[in-house]
Amino acid sequence: MTEESVEFAGQTITRAELIYEGKAKQVFATNDPTIIWMHYMDQVTALNGKVKEEYAGKGALNSRISNLLFTYLADQGINHHWLGSVSETDELVKKVAIIPLEVVTRNYTAGHFVSRFGVKAHEKLEPRVQELYYKSDELDDPFMNDSQAISLGFASRQDLSTVYALADQVNELLVAIFNKINITLVDYKLEFGRLADGQIILADELSPDNMRLLDKETGKSLDKDVFRQKQGDLRLGYQDVLNRLEESLK
Ligand code: 5GP
Repeated sequence: MTEESVEFAGQTITRAELIYEGKAKQVFATNDPTIIWMHYMDQVTALNGKVKEEYAGKGALNSRISNLLFTYLADQGINHHWLGSVSETDELVKKVAIIPLEVVTRNYTAGHFVSRFGVKAHEKLEPRVQELYYKSDELDDPFMNDSQAISLGFASRQDLSTVYALADQVNELLVAIFNKINITLVDYKLEFGRLADGQIILADELSPDNMRLLDKETGKSLDKDVFRQKQGDLRLGYQDVLNRLEESLK
């Protein structure tokens, strides 16, 4: 990482201490207590970090895809944490208190839904399925239901209604943009956070690391499943997704 300070919206933002390192991102504090500095890493992991590899340029691809999708969602009225890019791999986001829940939306069967329920893969789910997982690396992100999340104090019933409604709005918009570029959005994970005033907004990233994306013509995976299933260089699919999004959203 080279840049340590950037000019952003009329002020100098300086990267400060590392506050969190995930499997694919580093999160730093800045001199502005309302702004966080996120760095996308080239590392890719599977099986909750048990399998790891470096793919040069993967971080930049994810950052660009995520930025395009956040900008598209903002244009459609979705509140989120993304503020702007400061380099190919780094961006500034609003500081939120992350709700420790992974919100998975499934439009088609795949992954754990197939192994858990013994159904065929790539069958349409109607209505779409929404699931919660507790965000905990030590526990391998276990499935969690609403009453568990409420009892453990992660979210109130009202918060969960807000989160599910936001996830549905995001789903409608993401399905529409991916359909337009001939890609099926099979499933994906979202995270939400609270601003200082309590408002719940969309956080984290929107990239093929968190999604299952299938080319509608060939049926090929354009996401992290290529790595999980040892099918070759995942960057080819990520680059394809980026090219199509850029073409469609320019
Ligand atoms: P599954 O539950 O089938 O493993 O995952 C469902 C969808 O959510 C997939 O698109 C997967 O990439 C995403 N997902 C679920 N949990 C995680 C996680 O901990 N990290 C990432 N990057 N994606 C996840």
